[in-house]
Amino acid sequence: MADKITTRALVALAPGEPLSLQTVELDTSDLGSDEAVVEFTHSGLCHTDLAVASGHIPGRFPAVLGHEGAGIVRRLPRGYAGPLAVGDRVLATFAACGQCTTCRHSYTSACTRGVEYNFGFERGEGRAPHGVRLIERGEGSERAAIGFFGQSSFAQTSICRQTSLVKVADDLPFDLVCSFGCGFQTGFGTVRNHLIPCHAAAWSQATGSGTPFRPRSLAVFGIGAVGLGAVIAAKAEGIERIIAVEPTASRRQLALEAGAIHAFDPLEATSDGPGEPDPAAKLKGMTDGEGVDLIVDATGNSTVFRHAVHSLASKGHLCVVGAPPAGTELSFDAFYVLNKGLLISSIVEGASIPERLLPQMLDLVKQGAFDVLKKAVKVYRPDQVDEAVRAAKSGEVLKPVFAW
Ligand SMILES: [Zn+2]
Ligand SMILES: [Zn+2]
Repeated sequence: MADKITTRALVALAPGEPLSLQTVELDTSDLGSDEAVVEFTHSGLCHTDLAVASGHIPGRFPAVLGHEGAGIVRRLPRGYAGPLAVGDRVLATFAACGQCTTCRHSYTSACTRGVEYNFGFERGEGRAPHGVRLIERGEGSERAAIGFFGQSSFAQTSICRQTSLVKVADDLPFDLVCSFGCGFQTGFGTVRNHLIPCHAAAWSQATGSGTPFRPRSLAVFGIGAVGLGAVIAAKAEGIERIIAVEPTASRRQLALEAGAIHAFDPLEATSDGPGEPDPAAKLKGMTDGEGVDLIVDATGNSTVFRHAVHSLASKGHLCVVGAPPAGTELSFDAFYVLNKGLLISSIVEGASIPERLLPQMLDLVKQGAFDVLKKAVKVYRPDQVDEAVRAAKSGEVLKPVFAW
């Protein structure tokens, strides 16, 4: 493989400008010992990409975004000794520095420098980001940065951090699972890695029982990739009452197909007759008047947060995983929270160790637990980018995916 590769990329040229499909040249001569060249076959479009492209989350321009890639390893550095091999099929996931305290203890999703490595195109060791040259702009023009979330999967061929790649089986449907490394693992891991174990530990400790009381109910506010991942995990964990709170009817339907037993529109939820929407009263009505044991808030909305707090059962746990705009403040009635002994927490990327969590999720794909993705995913060509972005913004398509 030559050092300079001509490929295509959806480039974010400036904040607020639409993503632009460009023919680009990727120079791989400077491939680091911790990097790999990957040819992506698919990449999911996530709201995080749109938030950076629009300038709502600080980013770098021009740049190649994309952080839900699936593809094939095409090149590894000289002297590389494994575990990846050229030809391996991989899912790409978030990046981490590998050196801070949390990384050294394998908690890479909580990397102290996660923001720099994921949003800042950081490569470590003082190295400048990789880039692609926009061919139509000529030789000396500014290059678009590569390295978003250690992958920049909006380039057909890109340079990735090896630690952002997880080797997977050859027979996986990449169009359906390419987004597992971000949204779906966030929701799935929030339930499996965080809410369920925290609940078990708290009850065992407080009651002295080796067989802790299992959570009976779990509600998810907001059904996107994160919310749907949470519903699927709750179903796999055997939680009986899974409830989806979501204003869009088609998304409520997806949640029901994924395992929710109830789904309702929070804007129409009144306890009895007309009045202010009160989803908390509605949820209590669905849980014997006691409230919900576990809640995932995937919305990042401060009003939803308040409703979610008031929907919890005694000793309930609310985990906030939807990202609000920077500077958003959340408030709650401290007396209420104290007296119910509520736990309110937040984590990113589902506290995932991707090489452990993604295979668990992929096993469930084989068992049919993710079959709902056939309806949730819509595949677009890269030249249909405007249509894909519109569908993501309107909520009409839960997970748009580009097929390179
Ligand atoms: Zn994402
Ligand atoms: Zn780190």
